[in-house]
Amino acid sequence: MSIERYLQGVWYARRPPPWWLRLLSPLYGFLVRLRHALYARGWRRAQRVAAPVIVVGNLTVGGTGKTPFVIWLVQCLAELGYRVAVVTRGYGRSHSRRVTNDVLRVDGSCRAEEVGDEALLISRRAQVPVYVCRDRVAAARAAIADGARVIVADDGLQHLRLARDAEIVLIDAMRGWGNGALLPAGPLREDPSRAARATAIVVTGEGDAPLAPLDRPTIRMQLEGSVLWPVNGGGEGRALMALAGERVHALAGTGNPARFFATLRQARLEPIEHPFPDHHRYVARDLEFDDGLPVLMTEKDAVKCQAFAPENCWFLPVSARFSMAEGRSLLGRILMEARLLDILACPLCKGPVQLVKEEGGAVLVCRADRLAYPVRDGIPVMLEEAARQLQPTDPLLER
Ligand code: ZN
Repeated sequence: MSIERYLQGVWYARRPPPWWLRLLSPLYGFLVRLRHALYARGWRRAQRVAAPVIVVGNLTVGGTGKTPFVIWLVQCLAELGYRVAVVTRGYGRSHSRRVTNDVLRVDGSCRAEEVGDEALLISRRAQVPVYVCRDRVAAARAAIADGARVIVADDGLQHLRLARDAEIVLIDAMRGWGNGALLPAGPLREDPSRAARATAIVVTGEGDAPLAPLDRPTIRMQLEGSVLWPVNGGGEGRALMALAGERVHALAGTGNPARFFATLRQARLEPIEHPFPDHHRYVARDLEFDDGLPVLMTEKDAVKCQAFAPENCWFLPVSARFSMAEGRSLLGRILMEARLLDILACPLCKGPVQLVKEEGGAVLVCRADRLAYPVRDGIPVMLEEAARQLQPTDPLLER
């Protein structure tokens, strides 16, 4: 059994972790507090980059629906007209090659071994530039040099060197804090109290693990997927529901394979479970079974299997979903906290707009076009048809 498997068993078991692991957790906790103190006292300086930085991360190790959330967030920002880029550490890169400090720009021709499976997935789904580097500050600077105006840092919560304007903490609804212990006795990378400083806390997926001592309101994110696509890239999609009642092989090399299996069971499939370690490097043999049953996997697995997957292999893309009210409130909070409204551009002339508070809310004013774009529930509506044409003498133009 791998170390990873063993630890997962300990972290999410009901009995207390073995004493020798518990001995190590205070040491880990001390190192985490020391790092925070070094930055808080200015002995180490966080690096500010020339664009707002939104950090997305989790307090535990593995599997919290982070990738679908990042995709949702950058798609929302791109739709609002921001030039957004994602920076990430590039987990799941090949260990055989030395991971250097060079910044890699992810595009369609990249392979998962080079840039990591999550980076490749974000790049394909969100269609925004993704930069991979161990040094997130260098990655952000490269993105800005290429024209990005907003940076979303994937999994950067503990990368304190990159100064941030907003932090989103994700928590897995099914697993919560696990046994509540810090690494290595438990899954926690930091004390849960850290979440108190976040811009927003998002609880992902189905489940009701206790989240004490957290006493802040959280936002609920569901993961949705209903259409299967061929892993080898050819052919049409098919409804997941069409396989209801059938036995399938289910493969998942993710932080929480149980979540994928639960999704399939919820759709009334009968999965034969094949969990793999997170970022598993698949070989053709992993996908070969001699019973002819369909083989199903997550999208993160699929980006690594495209080249050699047989025809009966399918993947299930999942998307983040919020209730209308919660999605808007979350996005509004991020826009405000990261001061993103200040850097919006007018969709017509691409020139600057200015945030002007007025009675009952705020508008974004483009002086060149004499337009006032409304801000509804904290979210700008950057559409010409929603904007109000201003008279040359309008006082909004004078501020
Ligand atoms: Zn304009």
